[in-house]
Amino acid sequence: MSELDPLLFGEIDPPQRLLMGPGPINAHPRVLRAMSADLLGQFDPEMTGFMNQVMALYRPVFGTENKWTMLVDGTARSAIEASLVSLVTPGDTVLVVNFGRFGLLLIEILQRIGAKIETVEAPWGETVPMEAIAEALARTGAKVVATVHGDTSTTMAQPLEGLGELCRAAGAYSYVDATATIGGMEIAADRWGVDVVTGGLQKCLGGPSGSAPITISDRAAELIFSRRHVEKGIVRDDIADGQGPRIGSNYFDLAMIMDYWSEKRLNHHTEATSMLYAARECARVALGEGLQTRFTRHAEAGRAMTAGLRAMGLTVFGADATRMTNVTGVYIPDGVDGEAVRTAMRTQFEIEIGTAFGPLAGRIWRLGAMGYNAQKHKVLITLGALEVCLRMQGFALPLGEAVPAAMQAWDAA
Ligand SMILES: *Cc1c(COP(=O)(O)O)cnc(C)c1O
Repeated sequence: MSELDPLLFGEIDPPQRLLMGPGPINAHPRVLRAMSADLLGQFDPEMTGFMNQVMALYRPVFGTENKWTMLVDGTARSAIEASLVSLVTPGDTVLVVNFGRFGLLLIEILQRIGAKIETVEAPWGETVPMEAIAEALARTGAKVVATVHGDTSTTMAQPLEGLGELCRAAGAYSYVDATATIGGMEIAADRWGVDVVTGGLQKCLGGPSGSAPITISDRAAELIFSRRHVEKGIVRDDIADGQGPRIGSNYFDLAMIMDYWSEKRLNHHTEATSMLYAARECARVALGEGLQTRFTRHAEAGRAMTAGLRAMGLTVFGADATRMTNVTGVYIPDGVDGEAVRTAMRTQFEIEIGTAFGPLAGRIWRLGAMGYNAQKHKVLITLGALEVCLRMQGFALPLGEAVPAAMQAWDAA
C-alpha cells in the first residue's frame, strides 16, 4: 500500500455554519485572532504576566475578589472534575442539587471519587427551592453542596442567592458549575457566598471549548491545600514524601494548579498557551462590552427567540420564571420529525440547532443565542429558517409571524 498522500485531506476549511444550539457557538473573531499569536515559554515573564492578567480579568467575570481565580486546562468538565476531586475525599457526604443532565454528571464524578452522595431534586424543567436545599443540608450534614447554575439540558437556571450563607452556617463548602451562564447571566460568586465556581469558554463567553475558568474562595483553598499537604500526606509530585498513598487526581489537583498560578510558579502541567490567549480575549471582549450590557443583550435575545417561537404556534419548554436567557427549549410539534427539521436547518440554511438528552430526547429542540451569536440578526435568521423548515415538514403554521414578533420582543424593555 502507498503512503497516505499528505494533500489528500486538504487544508481545514469548515462551512460557515451558524451555531444556534446550546453550545458550542461561533467564537468571537477577536478570540480566534488572539489564538494565532506566537507562543511563549511557560516561565517567560511575558507569559506569567499574561497569566496574572487572566486572574485579574476573570475576577469581575465571576463577580469575586477571590485571589485564586485562574484557568484549568481542559474543557469545562475538567474544572468540574478538578473542583470535586480536590474538595471531596472518599467517604465525604456531598449533597447534589440535581435538576438536569449536568446534575447527573456531578453525581457520576462523585461516584468515581467514592463520595457518599445525597441528592435534592427537581423534575426536568423546574429548579430546586432554597428551602428544600436547606432541609436536605440539615438532614444529611453534607460537607459539600454541589450544583449547576444554568443546566442547558433543561434550560433552567437555579436561583443561588443565599446558597453560600446557608452552606457556611452549616459548615459546608459549595460548588457551582456555571459553564452555561458565565458571560451571559450574572455570576455573583461573592454575593452568593459560594466557594468554587467554574465555567467554560464555548457558551456565553464566545470562545472555543478547551479552557475552563475557575474561582476558589480562600476558605476552600485552605481546605484544598490542607488535604493535599497534610491530611493525606500528599505533597508535590517532585518531592518524595513517603507519607502514604496518594489519592485523587494529579492533573486535576487544584492545590498543584494553584501553586503553578502562584508567585511560586511550581511546575505542574505546561499552561495551554493558545487557550490562555483565547480565555484572556474572551474576558477582554466581555468586560469591554460591559457585563451588564452583555446580560441585557442575552436577555433580549432570549426574549426575542421565545416570542418568535410562540408566534409560530410552538410551545416553549419549562418554567418561564427560571428559564435561562441564553438557551430556549421548544417542543417538537406532534407529527413533525425533529431530526429532519434539524437536518434541513443545517443543509438549507447552514444553521445548527440543538437536540436534547434523556427524558427530553426527541421531545424538544434547544435554540441558543449565546456570546457572539446573541445578536438580533442571528436570532431573526434562525427563526425565519425554522419557520420554512417546519413548513417543509408539513407543519401548518402562519408564515411571516415569527420574525416581526421577535423584532418587537427584542426591543421591548
Ligand atoms: C455545556 C456545559 C458543560 C460542558 O462541558 P464541556 O466539558 O466543556 O463539554 C458543562 N456544564 C454545563 C452546565 C454545560 O451547559
